[in-house]
Amino acid sequence: MSYAQRTSHLRPEGAYQVLAKAQALEAAGRAIIHLEIGQPDFDTFPNISMAGIRAIAQGKTRYTPPIGMKSLREAIAQDAGRRRGLEFHPDQVVVSPGAKPNLFFPTLALIEPGDEVIYPDPGFPTYEAMIRVAGGVPVAVPLLEQNNFSFDLEAFHRLVNERTRMIILNSPSNPTGGVMPFIDLKQVAAAAQQFDCWVLSDEIYARTVYDHASVPSIASLPGMMERTIIMDGFSKTYAMTGWRLGYGIMPKELAQVVQLLLTHSVGCTAEFVQVAGIEALTGPQDQAEAVVVEYQARREVIVDGLNAIPGITCQKPQGAFYVFPNIKSFGLTSNEMADLLLEKAGVAVLPGSAFGRYGEGYLRLVYSNSVENIRRAIAQIAEVLTKL
Ligand code: PMP
Repeated sequence: MSYAQRTSHLRPEGAYQVLAKAQALEAAGRAIIHLEIGQPDFDTFPNISMAGIRAIAQGKTRYTPPIGMKSLREAIAQDAGRRRGLEFHPDQVVVSPGAKPNLFFPTLALIEPGDEVIYPDPGFPTYEAMIRVAGGVPVAVPLLEQNNFSFDLEAFHRLVNERTRMIILNSPSNPTGGVMPFIDLKQVAAAAQQFDCWVLSDEIYARTVYDHASVPSIASLPGMMERTIIMDGFSKTYAMTGWRLGYGIMPKELAQVVQLLLTHSVGCTAEFVQVAGIEALTGPQDQAEAVVVEYQARREVIVDGLNAIPGITCQKPQGAFYVFPNIKSFGLTSNEMADLLLEKAGVAVLPGSAFGRYGEGYLRLVYSNSVENIRRAIAQIAEVLTKL
């Protein structure tokens, strides 16, 4: 059987592959600590869950406009605008089942075959997948460990050109936790204007930030909103990964095209999920804020623990819930190292190479786990690595 060319490059996400290996070991009786899957370990906050349950009981189980309920789009425009110091019109907001469709569909709407798209490497694997499905040419810009895992700007300036149609940013980043400094964003914005390209800014971790770090949106730079798509959502901030609720904010005309793609693919986002989303944004924010304080404490434990293992160096990331330690001194590929840690230390982590070729030599560990489990994982990793 042969399948359409546009699917030939698609690969599973590394996290699911490692999870399957870990579960096979668990089925055979091994205890595994899971630091591979990138989602909050908290349940959805009760006020949000109850709003969803009430909505189902009230029969809010029907189709909504493909672009999303007006009341939710108004709440998003308000909240997202206030947090970024910008003013958004609800017609710029496109609601989607999870944030991912607001990566995929704007890309399908904007990229012609042969168009070049710049994206971060190591980066979220969906970027390269969606660029290729759209027929675009993925152009990887390496992230620099010594610069907060921000773009290697020299490489960026070498790679951006008149064929570049879109630049993808992700700050704070998955898999590095890095935050792009404002001066770097300014350079990217200037290049986007010079070469007339779009910017797709994946801001899903914008509220998971530490040390009062400022994470400005590139959309807030002069002249940028008209060429920027902000993608954000509820999965991480409100522990709602399984509800599937996200959004994009973009120029109104583009929002209409993305709405057509939603119409003919998913139809719309579940009505009761959207009602729960309104509660998430307009209800109390203390739980979302407390979770970030908790992640920050866990970050200290994992970063200090990793740096105490001879041969590992680990930057302290300013956002998200990932660390991306450098393991180059061991002379193993990141795949070999991830396998070794799973089999010998009983700790599931992802190889950096699952996020692109510039991720080789690193691992990704998720610290949305208990301090106790993180400490145990570090001790078990240290025991295996000190024997190498
Ligand atoms: N962007 C990044 C960088 C992510 O890490 C994720 C979730 N893993 C998403 C987008 C997708 O979010 P959602 O689950 O809401 O589709």
